[in-house]
Amino acid sequence: MEAIPIVIFALLGMTIASFLNVCIDRLPANQSLVFPPSHCAACNRRLAIKDLIPVFSYLWLRGRCRYCGAAIPKRILWVEISTAALFGLACWQYNLSIELAVALFYRCIFMVLMVIDWEKGLILNKIVFPAIVAAIVISAAFSLFLPDIEIVPFIGRAAAGGGIMLALFLLIVIVSRGGMGWADVKLAALIGLVTGFPLVFVALLIGVILGGVVAVLLLVFKIKKRKEAIPFGPFLAIATIVTLLWGNSILSWYRGLF
Ligand SMILES: [Zn+2]
Repeated sequence: MEAIPIVIFALLGMTIASFLNVCIDRLPANQSLVFPPSHCAACNRRLAIKDLIPVFSYLWLRGRCRYCGAAIPKRILWVEISTAALFGLACWQYNLSIELAVALFYRCIFMVLMVIDWEKGLILNKIVFPAIVAAIVISAAFSLFLPDIEIVPFIGRAAAGGGIMLALFLLIVIVSRGGMGWADVKLAALIGLVTGFPLVFVALLIGVILGGVVAVLLLVFKIKKRKEAIPFGPFLAIATIVTLLWGNSILSWYRGLF
Protein backbone atom coordinates (compact mmCIF):
# COMPACT_ATOMS: atom_id res chain seq x y z
CA MET A 1 0.00 0.00 0.00
CA GLU A 2 1.36 3.33 -0.99
CA ALA A 3 1.60 6.16 1.48
CA ILE A 4 -0.47 8.65 -0.53
CA PRO A 5 -3.90 7.00 -0.07
CA ILE A 6 -3.16 6.57 3.64
CA VAL A 7 -2.37 10.28 3.96
CA ILE A 8 -5.51 11.17 1.98
CA PHE A 9 -7.65 9.02 4.29
CA ALA A 10 -6.01 10.50 7.38
CA LEU A 11 -6.89 13.98 6.08
CA LEU A 12 -10.41 12.76 5.31
CA GLY A 13 -10.60 11.43 8.88
CA MET A 14 -9.59 14.86 10.23
CA THR A 15 -12.34 16.50 8.21
CA ILE A 16 -14.98 13.98 9.27
CA ALA A 17 -13.78 14.41 12.86
CA SER A 18 -14.92 18.04 12.69
CA PHE A 19 -18.41 16.73 12.00
CA LEU A 20 -18.07 14.12 14.76
CA ASN A 21 -17.16 16.94 17.16
CA VAL A 22 -20.34 18.76 16.11
CA CYS A 23 -22.32 15.56 16.79
CA ILE A 24 -20.63 15.19 20.20
CA ASP A 25 -21.50 18.79 21.11
CA ARG A 26 -25.02 18.93 19.76
CA LEU A 27 -26.66 15.48 19.88
CA PRO A 28 -26.81 15.31 23.72
CA ALA A 29 -28.41 18.78 23.78
CA ASN A 30 -30.96 17.84 21.10
CA GLN A 31 -29.62 20.58 18.83
CA SER A 32 -29.63 20.55 15.06
CA LEU A 33 -26.42 19.30 13.43
CA VAL A 34 -26.58 21.87 10.64
CA PHE A 35 -28.00 25.01 12.20
CA PRO A 36 -26.69 27.34 13.55
CA PRO A 37 -23.31 27.23 11.78
CA SER A 38 -20.18 26.61 13.90
CA HIS A 39 -19.63 29.29 16.50
CA CYS A 40 -17.54 29.91 19.60
CA ALA A 41 -19.31 28.49 22.66
CA ALA A 42 -18.10 31.46 24.75
CA CYS A 43 -18.58 34.57 22.57
CA ASN A 44 -21.02 33.14 19.99
CA ARG A 45 -18.99 34.62 17.12
CA ARG A 46 -19.52 32.67 13.95
CA LEU A 47 -16.32 30.84 13.02
CA ALA A 48 -14.67 31.39 9.65
CA ILE A 49 -13.18 28.68 7.46
CA LYS A 50 -9.70 29.59 8.75
CA ASP A 51 -10.91 28.80 12.31
CA LEU A 52 -12.31 25.44 11.29
CA ILE A 53 -9.39 23.70 9.61
CA PRO A 54 -9.07 20.48 11.62
CA VAL A 55 -5.98 20.13 13.84
CA PHE A 56 -4.16 23.07 12.21
CA SER A 57 -6.58 25.77 13.39
CA TYR A 58 -6.36 24.49 16.94
CA LEU A 59 -2.56 24.44 16.91
CA TRP A 60 -2.27 27.80 15.10
CA LEU A 61 -4.65 29.47 17.56
CA ARG A 62 -2.97 27.63 20.48
CA GLY A 63 -6.32 26.23 21.57
CA ARG A 64 -8.02 29.60 22.01
CA CYS A 65 -10.86 31.39 20.24
CA ARG A 66 -9.50 33.95 17.74
CA TYR A 67 -12.09 36.53 18.82
CA CYS A 68 -12.51 36.24 22.60
CA GLY A 69 -9.56 34.10 23.68
CA ALA A 70 -11.73 31.48 25.41
CA ALA A 71 -10.16 28.03 25.58
CA ILE A 72 -11.35 25.57 22.92
CA PRO A 73 -11.92 22.14 24.51
CA LYS A 74 -8.86 19.88 24.04
CA ARG A 75 -11.25 17.14 23.07
CA ILE A 76 -11.78 18.84 19.68
CA LEU A 77 -8.11 18.27 18.89
CA TRP A 78 -7.94 14.74 20.30
CA VAL A 79 -10.97 13.60 18.32
CA GLU A 80 -9.46 15.09 15.15
CA ILE A 81 -6.07 13.45 15.68
CA SER A 82 -7.39 10.05 16.70
CA THR A 83 -9.98 9.91 13.92
CA ALA A 84 -7.24 10.80 11.43
CA ALA A 85 -5.11 7.97 12.81
CA LEU A 86 -8.03 5.50 12.72
CA PHE A 87 -8.86 6.44 9.12
CA GLY A 88 -5.22 6.16 8.04
CA LEU A 89 -4.93 2.75 9.74
CA ALA A 90 -8.17 1.54 8.14
CA CYS A 91 -6.91 2.50 4.68
CA TRP A 92 -3.62 0.72 5.34
CA GLN A 93 -5.47 -2.42 6.53
CA TYR A 94 -8.15 -2.69 3.89
CA ASN A 95 -7.02 -0.68 0.84
CA LEU A 96 -9.91 0.72 -1.14
CA SER A 97 -12.59 -1.86 -0.48
CA ILE A 98 -16.05 -2.35 0.93
CA GLU A 99 -14.37 -3.45 4.18
CA LEU A 100 -12.79 -0.02 4.41
CA ALA A 101 -16.24 1.60 4.27
CA VAL A 102 -17.54 -0.66 7.06
CA ALA A 103 -14.43 -0.10 9.19
CA LEU A 104 -14.71 3.69 8.87
CA PHE A 105 -18.42 3.64 9.66
CA TYR A 106 -17.96 1.67 12.88
CA ARG A 107 -14.93 3.71 13.96
CA CYS A 108 -16.95 6.92 13.65
CA ILE A 109 -19.92 5.51 15.57
CA PHE A 110 -17.81 4.25 18.47
CA MET A 111 -15.75 7.45 18.58
CA VAL A 112 -18.93 9.53 19.06
CA LEU A 113 -20.44 7.07 21.58
CA MET A 114 -17.20 6.98 23.55
CA VAL A 115 -16.73 10.75 23.88
CA ILE A 116 -20.36 11.53 24.72
CA ASP A 117 -20.43 8.83 27.39
CA TRP A 118 -17.10 10.04 28.82
CA GLU A 119 -18.17 13.70 28.92
CA LYS A 120 -21.87 13.42 29.74
CA GLY A 121 -22.34 9.89 31.06
CA LEU A 122 -24.91 9.36 28.31
CA ILE A 123 -25.38 6.66 25.71
CA LEU A 124 -27.92 8.18 23.35
CA ASN A 125 -30.72 6.02 21.95
CA LYS A 126 -30.70 8.07 18.76
CA ILE A 127 -27.19 6.77 18.11
CA VAL A 128 -27.35 3.28 19.61
CA PHE A 129 -30.65 2.10 18.11
CA PRO A 130 -29.90 3.09 14.50
CA ALA A 131 -26.41 1.63 14.97
CA ILE A 132 -27.92 -1.69 16.15
CA VAL A 133 -30.18 -1.78 13.08
CA ALA A 134 -27.21 -0.89 10.83
CA ALA A 135 -25.06 -3.64 12.41
CA ILE A 136 -27.79 -6.26 11.80
CA VAL A 137 -28.33 -5.11 8.21
CA ILE A 138 -24.58 -5.02 7.48
CA SER A 139 -24.06 -8.48 8.98
CA ALA A 140 -27.03 -9.95 7.12
CA ALA A 141 -26.03 -8.37 3.80
CA PHE A 142 -22.42 -9.51 4.08
CA SER A 143 -23.50 -13.04 5.11
CA LEU A 144 -25.61 -13.23 1.95
CA PHE A 145 -23.33 -11.59 -0.57
CA LEU A 146 -19.78 -11.44 0.82
CA PRO A 147 -19.52 -14.20 3.43
CA ASP A 148 -15.70 -14.39 3.36
CA ILE A 149 -15.04 -10.90 4.64
CA GLU A 150 -13.27 -10.86 7.96
CA ILE A 151 -14.38 -7.56 9.44
CA VAL A 152 -18.11 -8.37 9.51
CA PRO A 153 -19.14 -11.42 11.57
CA PHE A 154 -21.44 -13.94 9.90
CA ILE A 155 -25.05 -13.29 10.97
CA GLY A 156 -25.15 -16.28 13.35
CA ARG A 157 -21.95 -15.13 15.05
CA ALA A 158 -23.25 -11.56 15.24
CA ALA A 159 -26.51 -12.74 16.82
CA ALA A 160 -24.58 -14.92 19.29
CA GLY A 161 -22.31 -12.00 20.21
CA GLY A 162 -25.25 -9.65 20.67
CA GLY A 163 -27.17 -12.25 22.69
CA ILE A 164 -24.23 -13.02 24.99
CA MET A 165 -23.64 -9.33 25.75
CA LEU A 166 -27.34 -8.65 26.22
CA ALA A 167 -27.70 -11.52 28.70
CA LEU A 168 -24.46 -10.73 30.53
CA PHE A 169 -25.19 -7.02 30.97
CA LEU A 170 -28.83 -7.60 31.93
CA LEU A 171 -27.51 -9.89 34.66
CA ILE A 172 -24.98 -7.26 35.80
CA VAL A 173 -27.68 -4.56 35.92
CA ILE A 174 -29.96 -6.78 38.00
CA VAL A 175 -27.20 -7.98 40.34
CA SER A 176 -25.58 -4.55 40.78
CA ARG A 177 -28.97 -2.87 41.36
CA GLY A 178 -28.25 0.26 39.37
CA GLY A 179 -24.46 0.09 39.61
CA MET A 180 -24.56 -0.28 35.86
CA GLY A 181 -27.27 1.43 33.81
CA TRP A 182 -29.66 0.19 31.15
CA ALA A 183 -27.84 2.28 28.59
CA ASP A 184 -24.80 0.05 28.98
CA VAL A 185 -26.99 -2.98 28.11
CA LYS A 186 -27.86 -1.40 24.74
CA LEU A 187 -24.26 -0.47 24.08
CA ALA A 188 -23.13 -3.99 25.02
CA ALA A 189 -25.66 -5.55 22.63
CA LEU A 190 -24.39 -3.30 19.83
CA ILE A 191 -20.79 -4.29 20.56
CA GLY A 192 -21.74 -7.97 20.50
CA LEU A 193 -23.42 -7.57 17.11
CA VAL A 194 -20.50 -5.65 15.63
CA THR A 195 -17.71 -7.92 16.86
CA GLY A 196 -19.62 -11.25 16.95
CA PHE A 197 -18.74 -14.50 18.69
CA PRO A 198 -15.94 -15.19 19.72
CA LEU A 199 -14.32 -11.75 19.21
CA VAL A 200 -16.88 -10.22 21.57
CA PHE A 201 -14.92 -11.80 24.44
CA VAL A 202 -11.77 -10.02 23.29
CA ALA A 203 -13.66 -6.71 23.33
CA LEU A 204 -15.11 -7.44 26.75
CA LEU A 205 -11.77 -8.44 28.23
CA ILE A 206 -9.96 -5.38 26.85
CA GLY A 207 -12.80 -3.15 28.11
CA VAL A 208 -12.64 -4.59 31.62
CA ILE A 209 -8.82 -4.36 31.81
CA LEU A 210 -8.74 -0.84 30.37
CA GLY A 211 -11.59 0.37 32.60
CA GLY A 212 -9.96 -1.14 35.68
CA VAL A 213 -6.51 0.32 34.98
CA VAL A 214 -7.89 3.80 34.23
CA ALA A 215 -10.19 3.73 37.28
CA VAL A 216 -7.22 2.91 39.53
CA LEU A 217 -5.10 5.67 37.93
CA LEU A 218 -7.90 8.23 38.32
CA LEU A 219 -8.27 7.34 42.00
CA VAL A 220 -4.51 7.21 42.68
CA PHE A 221 -3.91 10.61 41.07
CA LYS A 222 -7.08 11.92 42.75
CA ILE A 223 -8.57 13.06 39.43
CA LYS A 224 -11.79 11.35 40.52
CA LYS A 225 -13.06 10.77 44.05
CA ARG A 226 -13.92 7.31 45.31
CA LYS A 227 -17.65 7.93 45.23
CA GLU A 228 -17.69 9.44 41.74
CA ALA A 229 -18.95 7.11 39.06
CA ILE A 230 -16.58 6.31 36.23
CA PRO A 231 -18.60 5.26 33.18
CA PHE A 232 -17.75 1.86 31.72
CA GLY A 233 -19.15 2.64 28.25
CA PRO A 234 -16.14 4.61 26.95
CA PHE A 235 -13.80 1.71 27.74
CA LEU A 236 -16.11 -0.75 26.01
CA ALA A 237 -16.21 1.59 23.00
CA ILE A 238 -12.39 1.89 22.86
CA ALA A 239 -12.12 -1.89 23.34
CA THR A 240 -14.44 -2.39 20.37
CA ILE A 241 -12.33 -0.16 18.15
CA VAL A 242 -9.20 -2.08 19.23
CA THR A 243 -10.97 -5.40 18.62
CA LEU A 244 -12.08 -4.30 15.15
CA LEU A 245 -8.46 -3.33 14.49
CA TRP A 246 -6.56 -6.30 15.92
CA GLY A 247 -9.11 -8.69 17.43
CA ASN A 248 -8.19 -11.69 15.29
CA SER A 249 -4.46 -11.28 15.99
CA ILE A 250 -5.14 -10.94 19.72
CA LEU A 251 -7.34 -14.06 19.65
CA SER A 252 -4.76 -16.18 17.82
CA TRP A 253 -2.00 -14.91 20.13
CA TYR A 254 -4.13 -15.86 23.14
CA ARG A 255 -4.85 -19.31 21.73
CA GLY A 256 -1.14 -19.75 21.06
CA LEU A 257 -0.45 -19.39 24.79
CA PHE A 258 -2.06 -22.75 25.48
ZN1 LIG B 1 -14.99 33.19 21.34
